[in-house]
Amino acid sequence: MSVICAISTAQAPGAISVIRLSGEGAIEVAARVFEPAGNKRVSDMAGYSCAYGEIKSGGERIDDGVLTIFRAPHSYTGENVAEISCHGGIYVTQRVLRACCENGAKAAQRGEFTKLAFLNGKLSLTQAESVMDTISAQGELTLRSAKLIREGALYKRSESVKGRLIKLLAQLAAWADYPEEDLPEVELETMRGTIESCEREINTLIKSFDNGMILRRGIPTAIIGKPNVGKSTLMNLMLGYERAIVTDIAGTTRDLLEETVRIGDITLKLTDTAGLRKTNDEVEKIGVEMAQRRLGESALILAVFDGSKAPDREDEQLIEQLKQSSGRVIAIINKSDLGLEAGYTELCGELTNVIELSAKSGEGKGELERIIGRMFTSFDEEDGGIFVNERQKACLDEAMRSLTEGRTALDMGMTLDAVTISLEQAAGALAELSGERISESVVDEVFSRFCVGK
Ligand code: GDP
Repeated sequence: MSVICAISTAQAPGAISVIRLSGEGAIEVAARVFEPAGNKRVSDMAGYSCAYGEIKSGGERIDDGVLTIFRAPHSYTGENVAEISCHGGIYVTQRVLRACCENGAKAAQRGEFTKLAFLNGKLSLTQAESVMDTISAQGELTLRSAKLIREGALYKRSESVKGRLIKLLAQLAAWADYPEEDLPEVELETMRGTIESCEREINTLIKSFDNGMILRRGIPTAIIGKPNVGKSTLMNLMLGYERAIVTDIAGTTRDLLEETVRIGDITLKLTDTAGLRKTNDEVEKIGVEMAQRRLGESALILAVFDGSKAPDREDEQLIEQLKQSSGRVIAIINKSDLGLEAGYTELCGELTNVIELSAKSGEGKGELERIIGRMFTSFDEEDGGIFVNERQKACLDEAMRSLTEGRTALDMGMTLDAVTISLEQAAGALAELSGERISESVVDEVFSRFCVGK
């Protein structure tokens, strides 16, 4: 039986490196390259035990280190696994790897250990995928999502929907013998209700993809407002240094500047826009058009008002627009150091997030950051804190399409066969999500994104 091996730690100098072996003969290969101190023998080592000793190749001693043994099926891959920890130099680590290869192991492919864990039924495909998400997580929220998925949160949710669909399919099969007109209306109603609840559940998971992307790539954020209200000053405040050109002349911020700001776990991609106003000035017009487009693309809108001046019609209009907006919005009443005019409080009444701030002095910055933090960490209230990846989203999209088809077929009074076909397709897409029913090429594709040694 073949034994695979790989360096599981990073290819950089460090304190320790780990070379991992997996396969039925993994412990035999380890015994050829590792000599425990004292009179111990590798073949006698129990699972979950380790030994200190010499790592050797042929007669030559390469390094000293620690060998850990996991015996099948109680290991990551479900097979016999041996892990050799040696000194963390690049050369010495490669020498140990070479010694393993010279003694019967072959170099592992990307993600091959986790692929074995999947093939041996240790992990569902979504759990296996979350291993890589854990490695690439850059913040608390994405790390927590990976952990939840690894613990089976996504698997359980998709299995629960699939379970409900299979029950429906069984019901449909039982009805197949009856003439359709005899079916009680109440049964059809219940069926419609179940399909709808499945659609809702799937839809929440689909939405979590966008949230995850936003967290991974940064939240597209637009700073909008009339000229001279303090947008560039606010941008500089958030960035912590002078970036945008600030002048007293209205309409002088003409370019769309984009910068990245990190607030705790969250990354904002900030765009400072030319003021959202009607203009005849050709140069600024381009900026205004771009700004409006940006507004549509933004996941967070910081709408700035000059609080030292009483609100005018334009401010009223903008506030109205914000109230209609479905996105996340914060109204910022700026220039609080100059004393604020009354009027904004009432105008902004229905908006959830309104904040008084001085972009110039920085007063209120902490509160702004707290609001932003709260907005985006409350993702988990919507989707249980998990973010699906692209492959998972494609399966969920497919399930959603089929469910909607099935419900439409039901509503239009089509034959129950048509409903059955759609629900079967939806259940199939969910089986693909968990990896229960999946082609070899998709599995290969999933693990090709892994690193070697995982
Ligand atoms: P923008 O056109 O919206 O980008 O506005 P700017 O950031 O260029 O600011 C316009 C003017 O308002 C500048 O003179 C800023 O110094 C001033 N300004 C901006 N924020 C504040 C503030 O919080 N307090 C005071 N007193 N002045 C501010």
